[in-house]
Amino acid sequence: MLRIGCHLSSSKGFLAMGKEAVKINANTFQFFTRNPRGGKAKTLDLDDLQSYLAFSEEHNIAQILAHAPYTLNACAKDPGLREFAKNTMADDLNRLSHLPESMYNFHPGSHVQQGVDTGIAYIAALLNEILTPDQTTIVLLETMSGKGTEIGRNFEELKRILDQVELSEKMGVCLDTCHVYDGGYDIVNHLDEVLKEFDQVIGLERLKAIHLNDSKNPFASHKDRHERIGEGSIGLEALVRVINHPKLRHLPFFLETPNELDGYAAEIALLKSHYQE
Ligand code: FE
Ligand code: FE
Ligand code: ZN
Repeated sequence: MLRIGCHLSSSKGFLAMGKEAVKINANTFQFFTRNPRGGKAKTLDLDDLQSYLAFSEEHNIAQILAHAPYTLNACAKDPGLREFAKNTMADDLNRLSHLPESMYNFHPGSHVQQGVDTGIAYIAALLNEILTPDQTTIVLLETMSGKGTEIGRNFEELKRILDQVELSEKMGVCLDTCHVYDGGYDIVNHLDEVLKEFDQVIGLERLKAIHLNDSKNPFASHKDRHERIGEGSIGLEALVRVINHPKLRHLPFFLETPNELDGYAAEIALLKSHYQE
């Protein structure tokens, strides 16, 4: 069975997201833990959460993915901004402890003028402060396209972060198909080789989720603009190979394509029709 869902708005709560997921035939979904551009999260509605948990069990929704706000920068130069990122992520992980099996994805950060080494050291230091041995949520580093001074532009940079995190068993990687293609990994013509490289550098056992997106830009453009499935430079055939690949097909896939709910429903139906059961 294909495990697939899309990014949903969390503004109406967990039960509402669960119902939307069912409506579009998804069996998982992704959501922002709070306003993607802002900081403050609404207080957690435990009644909504209880209703969601019952609903998700009944409808076989599993292993949802929380996404940190993308304005957080764990390797900002300003110590106040790093502190803010740390407190926000710690609070997010606290909230996620109510959601069994959930995962938490974040963009490693941008080092701006400080250099990759300093950036990586800050990110690992932050993780070392907030991860706890008893947490059940796995924290994922997202593969980035390498625009500006983004950390995570290649597998080596993610590996260096993982190596510096003490509780590294709490860590994994989320591969974004648009980002890696824009970043210069040719998943269209050389998917096997890219996965082999991932395995050699990071280890495929670390790969916990896929962001399934087409790209508006050409290969190795180092941009980051998602396109609808089959309408971009990656194309439907290559994305169908991704969902069916023996090393990937068991993973949860999350669409972050420019769509409203009915567009997501159509993409989910399309991808399901191409999945080899
Ligand atoms: Fe992301
Ligand atoms: Fe993504
Ligand atoms: Zn992106």
